[in-house]
Amino acid sequence: MDLSKLTISEFQKGLRAKEWSATEAAQTYLGAIETGDLDIKAYLRTLPESALQTAATVDQAIAAGEILEPLAGVPLALKDNILVEGEIATAGSKILENYRAAYDAHVVEKLKAARAVILGKTNLDEFAMGTSTENSAYQITRNPRDLERVPGGSSGGSAAAVAADMALGALGSDTGGSIRQPASFCGIVGLKPTYGSVSRSGLIAMASSLDQIGSLAKNVSDARLIFEAIRGYDPADASSSQQSDEPLAPFDVAEAKNLVVGWPEEYFVQGLNPQVGAAIEEARRVLEKAGVKVKSVALPHTRYALAAYYIIVPAEVSANLARFDGIRYERRTRNAERETLKDVYFRTRGEGFGPEPKRRIILGTFVLSSGYYDAYYAKAQAVRNLIRQDFNAAFRAVDVIMAPVAPNPPFKIGEKINDPLALYLEDVFTLPVNMAGLPGLALRTPVQEPLPIGFQLIGRHFREADILNLGQLYENQTAA
Ligand code: GLN
Repeated sequence: MDLSKLTISEFQKGLRAKEWSATEAAQTYLGAIETGDLDIKAYLRTLPESALQTAATVDQAIAAGEILEPLAGVPLALKDNILVEGEIATAGSKILENYRAAYDAHVVEKLKAARAVILGKTNLDEFAMGTSTENSAYQITRNPRDLERVPGGSSGGSAAAVAADMALGALGSDTGGSIRQPASFCGIVGLKPTYGSVSRSGLIAMASSLDQIGSLAKNVSDARLIFEAIRGYDPADASSSQQSDEPLAPFDVAEAKNLVVGWPEEYFVQGLNPQVGAAIEEARRVLEKAGVKVKSVALPHTRYALAAYYIIVPAEVSANLARFDGIRYERRTRNAERETLKDVYFRTRGEGFGPEPKRRIILGTFVLSSGYYDAYYAKAQAVRNLIRQDFNAAFRAVDVIMAPVAPNPPFKIGEKINDPLALYLEDVFTLPVNMAGLPGLALRTPVQEPLPIGFQLIGRHFREADILNLGQLYENQTAA
């Protein structure tokens, strides 16, 4: 049996039936990373000692006849902006090169309690700013489906690790598409939960009003298992919601068929690559063949979303990244010993941040400065409200909205890196979901050759069950 080819549910069955042990599985995966990751470079670091230790406790639990948690022994990967106590967490930036986390992220506490095996930390665009993982200060991750192409981003390392069978599942974070877009580029499944349903405590912040942790997995039921393990109210995150403790409705074919799907005409316009458009039409036909009703809906302010996002995000980035000042978080310039405090700040930040964080800090500081605040930031917030209202109105007529993830198929490494605007445009269909705080599930369209193309299902607030159930129905249809 090839342990690396399994889904989480298959893995768990075999583990309980003692067909394999958690230790054997952890060793298999660590071995797969050692060889497979030489080319792909999905991981920044592995955590073999703690991984094998956890696996051993799971094996002891099995021997003792204990009931296992749904993720016990499951080898998972974590994006390197999620804190694991005592371990390095770089967020893909040189400024945090030697930073060791002082505590576990809330999601990590949950994974540890569930005895999941954490294999290592994966590569990302610096502070999660990017769409290709080329903005990492450490390495470029390659798309396992075509090594010349990007895996998407910013959770490109997590997506590539799962797609290349170097983890059974992974955690990523999504601020404007960073789970859904790499999932789509690597041909896997990605769930960005409702804002407030998974605690952000211990996630290195990018844009706090948009950031959300979620799952990357091989199929819908695995994405669901991971989501169930990490969701829930956490008083340490002021935006965490009590609603996230309510149980998720289980999969029910009849109920999933009754969900009405909206097709937003504004998403199928110029700028959408025709191949991508055709692939999503195919996915739509799969749902319709299963008896699901699809009808048009309007999201009229969509075209303003991207501009507003690229004002709000830099504004929040400039505030969040102010804490990296050379006094806290380890790294300090060696070139300002006898100079002023201001020199320490300037040099540390000048040396530690890469081009994309710098670009956003400058832009963000500008849009928040007096005289410009109303013209840019306040306007962008008003647009954000309109985007929210668009979705609210659409969700009065339909239960779920179906849309593209990325406007283009996976592009070549280096193709867009010198054109930040071209990269920003890749987020056009994913970021409205974050601006409205909604859950989104990226799935494979039936077109996976020559390159994977995905689509997304967007749900109402805290209705992950709707998109997961419809996603499950879709997946069952395409597997048959
Ligand atoms: N590509 C988007 C950006 O650069 C989204 C990033 C993310 O979701 N973390 O802002």
